[in-house]
Amino acid sequence: MLLGCIADDFTGATDLANNLTRGGMRTVQTVGVPRGQLPDDVDAVVVALKSRTVPAAEAIAQSLAALKWLQYIDCKQIYFKVCSTFDSTPAGNIGPVTEALMQALGCDFTIACPAFPAAGRTVFKGNLFVGDVPLNESGMRHHPLTPMTDANLVRVLQAQMQGKVGLIDYADVARGPQAIRARIAELKLAGVKVAIVDAISNDDLMRLGLAVRDMPLVTAGSGVAIGLPQNFSLSAANAATLPRMKGHRAIVSGSCSVATNAQVAHFTSSGGAARALDPVKLAAIETAGEAEIERVMKWATPLMATQPVLIYSTADPAAVLSTQALLGANQAGTLIEHALAKIACGLVDAGVDQLIVAGGETSGAVVQALGVEAMRIGPQIAPGVPWTMSVGGKRQAVALALKSGNFGADDFFTKAFRVLA
Ligand code: ADP
Repeated sequence: MLLGCIADDFTGATDLANNLTRGGMRTVQTVGVPRGQLPDDVDAVVVALKSRTVPAAEAIAQSLAALKWLQYIDCKQIYFKVCSTFDSTPAGNIGPVTEALMQALGCDFTIACPAFPAAGRTVFKGNLFVGDVPLNESGMRHHPLTPMTDANLVRVLQAQMQGKVGLIDYADVARGPQAIRARIAELKLAGVKVAIVDAISNDDLMRLGLAVRDMPLVTAGSGVAIGLPQNFSLSAANAATLPRMKGHRAIVSGSCSVATNAQVAHFTSSGGAARALDPVKLAAIETAGEAEIERVMKWATPLMATQPVLIYSTADPAAVLSTQALLGANQAGTLIEHALAKIACGLVDAGVDQLIVAGGETSGAVVQALGVEAMRIGPQIAPGVPWTMSVGGKRQAVALALKSGNFGADDFFTKAFRVLA
């Protein structure tokens, strides 16, 4: 195994895996630390954790467990994938986890770089920009769990770390790998353990990739991954190829975000076969919602022989509010996630082998219900959203596209099936 990655959340893991695949690395993403065996023909593995906002001690424990497994399968380099908006608080978890991984790897220096210019994340003079504004002026300022009120990442990371934090300035990054390495040597002499790195373009990430070739640990967002495949002399040709699927096609959507509402509307208005779930019927105590699930399956089964079917709870903000007022927000969320997960299993058992799931939480529920242990990354549908193929679990292999809320254009659902055809 060439590259072993530890990602602090699921959709971030997919984003990273997608970048590696596009760079020519055959990549598998696992759901937590795997228990089973991985396929042999894989260059990179991304272990998806849920450690971004748990207490630091727990994040360290999860990350070290993942590291142990990655060391067991003999990865040449370790990548700790953090959020491209550096989501964290003064209590962690980026600093504490990075230091714990460094100690476990016997590594005396690493970088920390969330830059991903293609997604509008750039770092200059140690300051992170989101689009055209500094991090602390972006929406991240009001994040409910990790409000980011300082764009200066040297300061942000220093508050979370015992060791000293420094900066690899744009002047060195622009001059190339040798200048970056010289700067690293200087920083090491000055006692720096981790350096934030400036990067404002993909060219910067390519230069950085060459410079960190021999670094045992890289801490970064998913952008830095663009520069790593070039270090491994791979033949990029078929990294994203998935087996051809011949079964039925379906979409389950539990996302109520603006983009997903537009995608459901587009699919329906283009004549797609779609059926809305009724959350209130799902809550019917006497049948535990089973009747509504059965009705949906009866509707879908004959249709999916000839066309993709869409089953959705997606609704506009007013409808969501009225459902929440009736059922409670958390209860409604859990109820719908369980129902959609059950429907997804029913669809797969009825012959669906190409399944799109819209919604981050909804995707988590579906993957768990299907018992998927890992996913091989395939071709990209939209930025950050690839097709994947399930690995492990009790059911047959299924092509899965897991789309979190605001990803994808209006025609995402129809475009996705075309990408796989
Ligand atoms: P996103 O990625 O868009 O945030 P998620 O699946 O992560 O989507 O979250 C959507 C949440 O809203 C889920 O918990 C889901 O069960 C819930 N939900 C879906 N449809 C409705 C609805 N009609 N009313 C209330 N809650 C809903």
